[in-house]
Amino acid sequence: MIHYDRCPLCSSVEIEDYLLTRDYFLSRETFKLVKCSGCGFIFTQDHPDANNIDRYYASDDYISHNESATGFLNNLYRLSRRLMLKRKRAIVKNFTGLRKGTILDTGSGTGHFLSVMKEAGWTAKGVEINDKAREFSVSTFGLEVISPEQLSSLPSGSFDCITLWHVLEHFEEPFRYASEILRLLKPGGSCILALPNCQSFDAEHYKEFWAAYDVPRHLWHFTPVTLGIFAEKTGFNLKCTKSLPPDVFYISSLSEKYKGSNLSLIAGMINGLWFSLKSIFNKNRSSSLIYFIKKKSF
Ligand SMILES: [Zn+2]
Repeated sequence: MIHYDRCPLCSSVEIEDYLLTRDYFLSRETFKLVKCSGCGFIFTQDHPDANNIDRYYASDDYISHNESATGFLNNLYRLSRRLMLKRKRAIVKNFTGLRKGTILDTGSGTGHFLSVMKEAGWTAKGVEINDKAREFSVSTFGLEVISPEQLSSLPSGSFDCITLWHVLEHFEEPFRYASEILRLLKPGGSCILALPNCQSFDAEHYKEFWAAYDVPRHLWHFTPVTLGIFAEKTGFNLKCTKSLPPDVFYISSLSEKYKGSNLSLIAGMINGLWFSLKSIFNKNRSSSLIYFIKKKSF
């Protein structure tokens, strides 16, 4: 177990209890979220270390890595992924200002996003920890996907863009990873991060049942403010943010299920619609946010 006496983001010792929540997805174990009084960073206290985290991912339903998972929610996830792929490609193009270039997708999963980038003429590479997902992306899409241990062998300044779609919150050492991203980016290169937003309307509504806390797999629970501090401290400038609309429906339905609601899908859809309407006028309270950060030029 990893215990923090200081805030990992600002080193303050003023850490207060924030929320008790459960691993509703798999183990049913309770975990504590704490909040730094100095910078507002919220993180999972006493989380399993690298040697003990694997069993919290050991489920056939872990849909990021499993293409055959069934059920309405998994189908909804796959439908929303299809809708999102082209949008993600447009996001990369718009933010980098490039029609083609070199891209590294971290936590590339089954490789669907990278395959879309490759089709568009990008030189695409992936990093993925799960052996089956890596093999799937190589055999299905002919992608080049490495394991995280091989990352340090990649030459510095290789990429125009590095993407992390809902992965940074899983990393035990986000600072070390950020410095590796900094090294791998070309001067002025871009990094695109998608993260759950724990100051969203849906997080406020569902409290300990909010599905995107996803303990103990999610270690860090960012907000626009704390991600801005993280970017600044790791050698990046936060340029802008964008909301990721379909996530709120999936997260709300799952949160309703965790709450024990009988009509979790319908309730999740109705609430999801309400939260997404409200966040049109307040983007920083969207369920998930995409952050565009650029390597600082000295
Ligand atoms: Zn702090």
